[in-house]
Amino acid sequence: MNTIIENYVVQGKPIKDWTIEEHNVALDTLGARIYKPFHGVLVLGGGSKPYKIKIRQETEDGEVEKELVDGLACYSAVPFGHKDPVITENVNYYVSQMATIPRSISHSYLGPWLVKLKEFTQMDMFLPKSSGTEANEAAIKAIRKWARNYGGRDGKGIKETPYIITANNAFHGRGLGSTAMMDDETTRKDLEPLMEGFEQVPFNDVKALEAKLKEHDGNVAAVFIEPIQAEAGIYVPDDNYLHDVQKLCKENNALFVLDEIQTGYCRTGYNFAWQLYGLEKPDLITLGKAMSSGVIPVSCLCGKKEIMDLFEPHGEGSTFGGYPLAAFVGLLTIHELEKRDITNLAAKNGKYLKDKLEEIARKYPEKVKEIRGKGMLIGVEINPQYDGHELSMNMMKHGVYAKETHETNLRIAPPIVIEREGMDKIASALDASLADL
Ligand code: PLP
Repeated sequence: MNTIIENYVVQGKPIKDWTIEEHNVALDTLGARIYKPFHGVLVLGGGSKPYKIKIRQETEDGEVEKELVDGLACYSAVPFGHKDPVITENVNYYVSQMATIPRSISHSYLGPWLVKLKEFTQMDMFLPKSSGTEANEAAIKAIRKWARNYGGRDGKGIKETPYIITANNAFHGRGLGSTAMMDDETTRKDLEPLMEGFEQVPFNDVKALEAKLKEHDGNVAAVFIEPIQAEAGIYVPDDNYLHDVQKLCKENNALFVLDEIQTGYCRTGYNFAWQLYGLEKPDLITLGKAMSSGVIPVSCLCGKKEIMDLFEPHGEGSTFGGYPLAAFVGLLTIHELEKRDITNLAAKNGKYLKDKLEEIARKYPEKVKEIRGKGMLIGVEINPQYDGHELSMNMMKHGVYAKETHETNLRIAPPIVIEREGMDKIASALDASLADL
């Protein structure tokens, strides 16, 4: 569509006529360098199928347009893919009705969204936010409030520093609280002193957690982890790990908190990963990404009543957390997930795709170390002498957008609604890309 924006003259020409090089120069010189983007490529929009994106790419013969299979779904944020007619039509309708109003006055969608959230997540109460990291910041506040009131061995409140134990290599987002939960050196560089009271232990190591709980006996407020470490490289814990962590939390009167921002909303073939592992309801979970079908930023802290009841008017709040469009899209997403049985589709498609990728991996035993994952969250780990960035560049050359995480893992998390043709394309692209590596 030729909108006002396509025709907006910026830097001497309409945006639609900008070259890829001009886009890259603007990003490189004006944008803080927080990501290493693929150069020479520009996404134009959704493609001919919901699991495809249309791009413009620099080639020796000039710029050409083509389609890629979206193998990443914006890090699991786009379950229905792009241009889904139901999502698009409904969101377009909403946007034509109203901009926004403050949270201090009710609107038609928030109440029903909260009721559906309760049914869908099985949690008691909800604090809507926008980005994933904000939900995690809110979780840290909830944990601290609970710790001061009900924490400690006697349940009468922790008087000293209340500790939150997290996992090495975790990813919880970019707020300062989330940063304090992570041990990545680049992330933490020059930011000290960070908030006190965070300790890390190796992921999937119950003994290490037991030792840490003992070290801070009576002062641990919570254990806060991702059920599957996605950003770290799709690390799936042993089957009993989370169960043992939950048990230790109970024994130590510490909250069991899961960051399900990437694993939640059907991605793993279950509504939530705590259900995948057959756990009891966690005390708190944080959600984001797919909550809005990827259309706008929507996130939420969800938890048990005795914890969430500690929030008070004026103590917390947000302009856009739970604003009408968020609640509308939140309801729409749950409606469509349920109607299309996306949970079972994620399990079915995940099995098909993982089997295919494993078949390809067996052809390259010297290059591929392991294929891991649950449902539609799959990682391909290559051996350290090979380069994950080169592998993802090769994937793009062969028609699939999938991005490396850290140096040696390729994350594959396409829209859950992807068709067989798209999954076969991911597998054949991996085959060709590994051959080229
Ligand atoms: N937690 C997890 C597990 C994530 O994967 C992410 C984002 O990738 C976040 C938190 C942060 O979410 P956001 O980027 O929306 O702040």
